[in-house]
This record gives sequence, C-alpha cells and structure tokens, in this order.
Amino acid sequence: MIDDFSFLINQLGEDRTQYFGAVSPPIIASSNFHYRTVAEMAKAVSDEENIPLYTRGNNPTTDILNKKLAALEGTEAAMAVASGSAAVGMAVMSVVKAGDHVVCIQNPYSWTMRLFSEYLHRFGISVTYVSGEDATSYLEATKSNTTLFYLESPNSLTFELQDVANIASAAKEKGITTVIDNSYASPLGMQPAKMGIDLVVHAATKYLAGHSDCVAGAIMGSKAAISKIFYGELMTLGAVISPFNSWLMLRSLRTLEIRINRVSETTQKVVDFLAQHRGIAKIHYPHHHSHPHYELAKKDLKIPMGLFSIELATEDPEKITKFCESLRHFLMAVSWGGYESLIWPALAYYEIRKGGLPVNLIRVSIGLESADDLIHDLDQALMNIS
Ligand SMILES: *Cc1c(COP(=O)(O)O)cnc(C)c1O
Repeated sequence: MIDDFSFLINQLGEDRTQYFGAVSPPIIASSNFHYRTVAEMAKAVSDEENIPLYTRGNNPTTDILNKKLAALEGTEAAMAVASGSAAVGMAVMSVVKAGDHVVCIQNPYSWTMRLFSEYLHRFGISVTYVSGEDATSYLEATKSNTTLFYLESPNSLTFELQDVANIASAAKEKGITTVIDNSYASPLGMQPAKMGIDLVVHAATKYLAGHSDCVAGAIMGSKAAISKIFYGELMTLGAVISPFNSWLMLRSLRTLEIRINRVSETTQKVVDFLAQHRGIAKIHYPHHHSHPHYELAKKDLKIPMGLFSIELATEDPEKITKFCESLRHFLMAVSWGGYESLIWPALAYYEIRKGGLPVNLIRVSIGLESADDLIHDLDQALMNIS
C-alpha cells in the first residue's frame, strides 16, 4: 500500500556522506547557518524553503523528515510543524479568508472545533457542522461563500466516518478545498491525498511519533500548497518543530509499520473480548460489525487501528470510577497512539464538556503490550464492578 516502505524508512531523504557516514542523522541544533559569500547568502535568502538559512524555515534534520512524511502520504511535499493543532490551524488558515464559510464534520477533535467555532469566528469565518457519511450532507450545507470542506474520518471519540473520495470529488467540482485530519488511520490505514483530498494533516504526536515523548504535527499536500503555507503561516506564525523533535520523529518512523501492525492485531483481540462481555453495553469501533459505518470502514481503512471507545453496562459514577481505578496496566491519561495502553474516561470531562458524551464512555488506546496481559487487566477490572 505504501510504495516501497523499506526505501522510505532507510534511505529516503538521507545523504550519509553529508554527515560522516553516520547511520542515524545528526540533530542539527543550529538556529542559523553561515555563508562565505554574499552570492551564496543571497541564494539562500531567495529560496528559504529549500536552503538552510534560519531554523524557523528550513532545517536539515527537519528536511529529512519532511521528505519521508510526503512519501508516507504519497504527496509532492510535506511540512513537519510544532503540534497537531498547529498543523490543523495552519492548513485551515492557508485556505480561508474573512467572510468565508466552512463545512466541517460533526464532533471533530475538540481544539479543531474551538478553532472554527470560536477562534476563526472572530475573523468573520462561519462554519456548519454536518454528519458527512455521504457527500450530500456537505453539498447541502454549501453556500456561495464556502471555500473549505474539513474532514476527520473517523473522529477520535465515537469514530464516525465520512465518504472521503466522494466528498473530495464533489468539492473539486465546486472549486472548494478539502482538508482532512488523518491522525486516526495513519498513512498505513488511509492515504487521503490519493483519494482526492488537497491537504492532509496529522497529530504526529499520536501514531507517527508513537512513543509519547514528543508533540508534533504534519501537513502534506502539493508543492504549491505546502509552499504557500511555508511563506504564509509557518514563517509568520512560527509554529516550527524543533530539530530534536524532528529527530525523534525520524526514529519513530522507522518502526511505524511494525508498531501499527502489532497494535492492530492486539486491538482486534481486545475488542473481541470486550464485545462479548456482559459488563460492556456498547463498543464504538469502526471495524466492529456493530458500528454504523462498518461498511465504509472496510472500504476506506486498510487496517484496523488501536483506538476505540466502550460504554460500560452501568451509568453509576462510582462504578465507572472503580473500573477506571481498578486497572493495573492501562494508564489513565489523555492522548493516544503511544507504546502504552491508555484509558480516557468521559466522566473526568463531565463538568468541562457539560455532557455531550455518555457518562459511561471510556476511550481505550491500545499500545504494544501483549493482548493477554491487556485482556486480563480489563477482565479483572470488570469483575470488580460486576
Ligand atoms: C491530538 C489530536 C490533535 C492535536 O494534536 P496535538 O499534537 O496534540 O496538537 C488533532 N487531531 C486529532 C484527531 C488528535 O487526536
């Protein structure tokens, strides 16, 4: 599915003759780069995107990473940035202007929703949220000033999918730009640019980095679109990734495929166990047949991923609390996609989100541990509240 993954993880973007034959590329921890001649410096100034001048723009360590990120999504270009939210914000802001209207998927990542509903609202940009399971919902919400369709297929709490390819082609017909948050599927699960999406963004903090040790983001798209973001949002707003985090990302990408495959296998075993357990009322997982978008998931997502939600068969806050606190292996934390298995109880967010999610919903992120250990842990915690 990814063209020549072996080449991508080892050779692509790396020129070891430039750094003493070192197998692992150096962290070029330098803010600026010097030149001997005015002509050389003038050249760098005129092509800051491609020539190291100042690390808010091009940095050689980050540049290696960018080449690999583009290859992962099958796009012409890519840009690693400071965080997933920076990636979402910059990609969106490169498309919209005051007075525009956006059609966005219902229940996107919480800070993406904040971006549209509150932040961009201040600049006169309006938004309509739609279900997105077919292109019609996007088209019906489209107005004469709509410039952006925003997707996240699936979202990361209840996992509703969108018909990505059809929405992309409907947008193209109308000259509307499409942006998708592909953090959940990762490029191994779906490559939206190949389905016609213009800009793909990632919370690289999650699967791409995968070790819960760095916050990072990525934007992938055409050379022209990435160049526009470079000279527009990146250089002016400065949400740049540090060379050290780029290096962590490079290290992470080498194991991306084996990590995802491992997580995928384990998750299916854990989901099968939970789905038949009477302590579980409902499971939200695109690859479980009970999911409303199961067919769409089979069509669009090449591999089952490691993030899903359960609803316990009780709404009693004390029992929900006891379940969460009885787990010995799963850590209770935000975020997902790391080596460690996590739970995220909606109960902890009940005051702040004012409901919205069922009180008994718990999101689960599966890490690299053994399926047996994880199942055993869930089993004993469920037993504790039965
Ligand atoms: C975490 C997350 C983000 C934001 O990424 P950060 O690196 O935390 O800024 C965006 N989208 C999704 C789906 C996420 O899970």
